[in-house]
Amino acid sequence: MAKPIAVISASQLEVSESCDLRDVLQYVKRIKVPGFSHPAGVTGSAFHACCELWYRQAPGIFESGESGLTSFVDAGWRAAMSKKGTVLSPSDILKQDEFKSEVLRLLKIFYVRQVALGHLVKPLYIEKEFRIPFDSSEGLIELYGLIDRIMLIDGKAWITDYKTSSSHKKQKEVDWDHQLTFYSAAYRWLAKNSVSPIPVIEDRVELYYPKFDLFVHSYRNKEHFEDLKHRLVEVIHRRRNPNPRPRPSKDSCFFCPYKNTVHCREGR
Ligand code: SF4
Repeated sequence: MAKPIAVISASQLEVSESCDLRDVLQYVKRIKVPGFSHPAGVTGSAFHACCELWYRQAPGIFESGESGLTSFVDAGWRAAMSKKGTVLSPSDILKQDEFKSEVLRLLKIFYVRQVALGHLVKPLYIEKEFRIPFDSSEGLIELYGLIDRIMLIDGKAWITDYKTSSSHKKQKEVDWDHQLTFYSAAYRWLAKNSVSPIPVIEDRVELYYPKFDLFVHSYRNKEHFEDLKHRLVEVIHRRRNPNPRPRPSKDSCFFCPYKNTVHCREGR
């Protein structure tokens, strides 16, 4: 494979589209700043870790039923806390039991939904890391990321991303969600290039919000991949600017690690 001109993840694309300066600080210069992790982020990571453990041990967990989920929460929480860069504030450490109860609550909702759907089978992929080549007008770009789950159901691949946020995207946003386009591109590449061939090509991409017990699904076509190409090329152009622009806004600055640091005084 030719050397890629850039390696870009869905998170990088999102950050670049919201603030040029944060993208360069975080993903080009890779400047780390000390700070505490947001408990909502750690709770989300723990939920992902629990689902991964749960599926890796399937079908045992399905047989043990809803009550068996409790045993996953401590291990999932430990996995989330041991992730590089995760540090809770002393006051949040005192609230860990509360956060773990929330993880268990979300896990139960997820479990009951899987039972109702009859989807108690081991997925094709769980927490699947990918690095795939993607052609653009500027040259080869490498896309990378991690797909939460891919299941083969009724001749289709169901590609799922779990979202533990307190709000959810609407159908139109999901139809053009760039992260799901990354995942569809990755799945199609894996289906063609895996050592053990994958029997289906058609894919359905979806976000699952356990807080709302809601799946919002969509499909991808040529138009989506063209749109992604165009947006990735724009990331490359923005990164060539020697003076990347800060673009403060309530949404982009809220979780930004550079807010009110020497790197950026413009955070809101
Ligand atoms: S604090 Fe806001 S303006 Fe500054 S780098 Fe972060 S997102 Fe950009």
